[in-house]
Amino acid sequence: MTHPIQPQDIDLPAFLAELHRWVAIESPTADRDAVNAMADHVQTYAHSRGLHVTRHPTDAQTGDLLVARLGDPDRAARVLILAHLDTVHPRGTLGGPLPWRMEGDRLFGPGVYDMKSGALMAIEALALAQGRADATILFVPDEETGTRATRAMIEDHARHARAVLVVEPAREGGKIVTGRRGSALYRICVKGRAAHSGTRPQDGRSAIRAAARLVLELEALNDPDRRIGVNVGVIRGGTTRNTVPAECVLDIDVRLPDLAAQHEIITKIEGLTPIDPDITYDITGGVSRPAFTADAGSLALFDRAAPIAEAMGYPLVAMTSGGGSDGNFTAALGIPTLDGLGPDGADAHTTNEHLFPSTIAPRLAMLANLLISLT
Ligand SMILES: [Zn+2]
Repeated sequence: MTHPIQPQDIDLPAFLAELHRWVAIESPTADRDAVNAMADHVQTYAHSRGLHVTRHPTDAQTGDLLVARLGDPDRAARVLILAHLDTVHPRGTLGGPLPWRMEGDRLFGPGVYDMKSGALMAIEALALAQGRADATILFVPDEETGTRATRAMIEDHARHARAVLVVEPAREGGKIVTGRRGSALYRICVKGRAAHSGTRPQDGRSAIRAAARLVLELEALNDPDRRIGVNVGVIRGGTTRNTVPAECVLDIDVRLPDLAAQHEIITKIEGLTPIDPDITYDITGGVSRPAFTADAGSLALFDRAAPIAEAMGYPLVAMTSGGGSDGNFTAALGIPTLDGLGPDGADAHTTNEHLFPSTIAPRLAMLANLLISLT
């Protein structure tokens, strides 16, 4: 089968010049003004590429959500594309440890791989598919911190779509993602009773001692064979050396491969109880992203994309990722979802983040053809 758009139709130098403008606007999630400056640029650019763009405020801490529509703006789109404009890198990263630079086939810069290149790719794919595709791109401002302010808006758009394509980066030699672990975040505040450790130790109930036992209980829930991960990442407690500590706080990150594991581990965490009656646990938190497991619809979407990728000159290989994305939300709604459709690269979330520019044109052409085929 021949496909209307070929990799050689993509103007790579122009793409990289525009990507440089995107990366020059640093946009850490927590910096609302910075993320909105990024949204300003993307809004103007997407409009210049023929898309109908609307902008939606979220909350006082979070940047705006952009909705870019190809097709009738008064109707819901058949295909939803998810991208995010925030990065994990604080402002100053570009002028410090991660300057924009090309070294061989590696292009470096904050957010160059996760995921400004994928977000730009989505706009270019729609521009190429103009008149032949019916799609909406959501540019999310808060993906890197869990998409708290925009999850409901993503779900509203997804419910009307027949497919969701997530242009998060490809990985490990260009693999795309058909499953991601879910995640849960917990904080447990262990409370005991303070006392002078020299004069009245018998009156005290050490929250740190109780927390130490609790850390071991939590870490015992790890099960690498089942891909269950429980990490006590932060611990804070006590006031002075000679006070029996009254309080100790644990921050816990939980990774879950499927809904059965989610139910099992969450029940265990929420049911943890201290053995000392004078100690209490105050447990807050819960599921942040549900597990994304490929269902029949997502596998059918993969089967539709694979021959297109083959024709563009690369094999489509699926993998399951340990991390989460906004694809977790849409897959959990039962909407066929393919993730990791952005360009390949490596070392996301580090100051060695880089992109392989040679992977842009074939993957962009694949995305454009897939959009056409889904319309
Ligand atoms: Zn990302």
